[in-house]
Amino acid sequence: MDKLNFINEELDRLKEAGLLINIRTVEGPQGAWITVDGKSVLNLSSNNYLGLANDLQSKTASHNAIDTYGVGPAAVRTIAGTTTLHKDLEQKLAQFKGVESTISFQSGFCANLAVIPEIVGKEDVVFSDELNHASIIDGCRLAKTRVVRYKHGNPEDLQAKIHIEKNIDRKLIITDGVFSMEGDIAPLPEIVEIAEKYNAITMVDDAHGEGVLGRGGRGIVDHFNLHGRVDIEVGTMSKAFGVVGGYIAGTKQLTDYLVQKGRPFLFSSAVTAADVAACIAVVDTLKKSDDLVKKLWSNTRFFQDRMKQLGFNIGITKTPITPIMIGDAKVAKDFSQKLFDDGIFAQSIGYPTVPAGKARIRVMLSASHSKEDLTRAIDHFEKIGKAMNII
Ligand SMILES: *Cc1c(COP(=O)(O)O)cnc(C)c1O
Repeated sequence: MDKLNFINEELDRLKEAGLLINIRTVEGPQGAWITVDGKSVLNLSSNNYLGLANDLQSKTASHNAIDTYGVGPAAVRTIAGTTTLHKDLEQKLAQFKGVESTISFQSGFCANLAVIPEIVGKEDVVFSDELNHASIIDGCRLAKTRVVRYKHGNPEDLQAKIHIEKNIDRKLIITDGVFSMEGDIAPLPEIVEIAEKYNAITMVDDAHGEGVLGRGGRGIVDHFNLHGRVDIEVGTMSKAFGVVGGYIAGTKQLTDYLVQKGRPFLFSSAVTAADVAACIAVVDTLKKSDDLVKKLWSNTRFFQDRMKQLGFNIGITKTPITPIMIGDAKVAKDFSQKLFDDGIFAQSIGYPTVPAGKARIRVMLSASHSKEDLTRAIDHFEKIGKAMNII
């Protein structure tokens, strides 16, 4: 047993530092109100931006798909796991995003692991925003490529660093579209200009921009009108889509290549028909109407304006991701627990998800919230924030 002692030591260390993750268990469907650990609470912690995770049309599509295709794919995509539904989803996504082609994966995480090692290797260099998502970092590690980190959201620093490497043949710039812990938006037009100047490949991970930014939620490329100027777009269907899955959007050449090379595509089983059918239903819903996207943004403005008026520091957010900056991890945890006791579910986030000393409560707004819900949340934030001397 001694040989595994380091595990206990590490767990003790995490607990001591207030960093031990406390898993809350959700009973029942996602929504504005959910039951967590037996208690009904107002949900400010999910990525269910548009409230689609329990959408009737998505659920009906899933039920029908199970009746038609069964529950399991029983194979990877390249052997016997590609159904007509998978093809249909990829076509519909391409049309929605305004690209030639898409290829879907089991998750956004998988999409990053699939694409990065097939684009760059040992001889190449990746320029990566210092706050990029863990799945981008891991994709680069798998690629065994050299990574140059540039300052967060800082095109001047990117320009200076890429200039030093200008003679490297293959250069890839990767950025999150919306940064998941800060809520700010990548300066994509400037990044694209630098890439064009230095002949670098561009890749944006739009996990938190999908369904949120752009016309009817078409994402960051649409938001900045950069169609045709970003080489690789990564998307997820696990956030605003309210289902699960990831994809890469780009040229047909790119997706044809990933069909042959993307290791999660070749070596891990296909997404189930039920999930794929629900994703198709979401694309149809978003194409039909932008009502949900509008509601999400109206809720965002309402909540953020009032929180700022109360004196909370919400950082540099430009999107529905709303960090309530606290600093100390233990204080943030304590704040979150007090909110939970009051029936408000807003998780605290500490190291390693955010840098040490930058702990926060991360509020995720959704189209499913009513103004009454948000007013209730704001009142509790105010009460606890004053009691804890945070405002
Ligand atoms: C959430 C997230 C992912 C992972 O997406 P999943 O579909 O949940 O695996 C990837 N990249 C970014 C930037 C994310 O925020």
